[in-house]
Amino acid sequence: MKTLSVTLPGRSYDILIGSGLLARAAEHLRPVLPRAKKLFVVTDSNVAPIYLSALIPGLERAGFETACREIPAGEGSKSPAMLSALWEDMMDFGLTRTDAVIALGGGVVGDLAGFAAATYLRGIRFIQVPTTLLAMVDSSVGGKTAVDLDGGKNQAGAFWQPSLVVCDCDVLDTLPEREYRCGCAEVIKYGLLNNAPFFNDLMETPAKEQYEHVISTCVEMKKQVVLSDEFDRGERQKLNLGHTIGHAVEQCSGFTLLHGECVAIGMAVITRAAVKKGFCAKETLDAAEKILKLYDLPDQTAYSTDELLNMALADKKVANGKISLIVPEAVGKCSIRPVPAEALREWMQAGGIV
Ligand code: ADP
Ligand code: ZN
Repeated sequence: MKTLSVTLPGRSYDILIGSGLLARAAEHLRPVLPRAKKLFVVTDSNVAPIYLSALIPGLERAGFETACREIPAGEGSKSPAMLSALWEDMMDFGLTRTDAVIALGGGVVGDLAGFAAATYLRGIRFIQVPTTLLAMVDSSVGGKTAVDLDGGKNQAGAFWQPSLVVCDCDVLDTLPEREYRCGCAEVIKYGLLNNAPFFNDLMETPAKEQYEHVISTCVEMKKQVVLSDEFDRGERQKLNLGHTIGHAVEQCSGFTLLHGECVAIGMAVITRAAVKKGFCAKETLDAAEKILKLYDLPDQTAYSTDELLNMALADKKVANGKISLIVPEAVGKCSIRPVPAEALREWMQAGGIV
């Protein structure tokens, strides 16, 4: 097992990464929740039947009283209505300020349960037990929690840090193949962004054969970036590599394409554009395309520049008519380039979008 500590101003928490951690979660939980009596577990309809029975008995043996809310799997559950249902459940269960919420599931469960923990009684403790590769590498550091509004994804939320994150690599064995590939897109992003040796590790050995290394490397990188920029204003923008165009593709597809697939497309497009504009060598593009192919991820979109621009320019990350593009310069090296929103069309076209 690997332990990474995240130290924030005034507090810190651990991220545990290893095998067989689910059944032993209680022994790691007790020290961070010395006075907790009750744990409210949020999970989804796919994860509950496979993993609740591994988690709950250990918690009860350790003296915690547990209650569980199983939400329907899928983004549709990240709603204000579901948030409100969780608040009511927590009140009925008699959850107090010294108790905690556990999120057992992917990003949907983590975002929703985290926001519920952030707001119930003005904030109670929160434990993340991510069960997707994406949630392990991406959502367990950074403290972003949210629900979706009719007007857009993640439009209501809060920064709320967990007290502990438990990544049990064994649970990834049941992850559907498509979800695995999507997690790999974000993993590849970390390599392309600032870690060439890691990028090569991913070329040589499939991520699923080296989960502990993959997750700890990504989490460590995200930790470094987030620590230097807790509220998302500078360095942290780099984590948006592939996301400006990726988000637009995701929205154009009406979310039929998954987030990771769109990030893969976004990375390929921006790397092609970077080569065309002379910021990046052709070998970098070759390497990026090769690794995306290796992980069976898409690198092209049939949506037009017009369709994508409509979406991209409505994004909340467009500030004062400027957009910050994260531009690869080499494998392991990217720069932040603020460009006028009008220039985005040209970047998309340079990236091979019609
Ligand atoms: P993400 O972490 O990708 O944002 P979700 O919370 O939407 O995503 O999870 C993606 C899908 O995978 C959901 O249908 C969820 O129920 C399912 N899932 C999550 N973890 C596992 C697992 N360990 N085994 C099987 N299915 C899982
Ligand atoms: Zn992402």
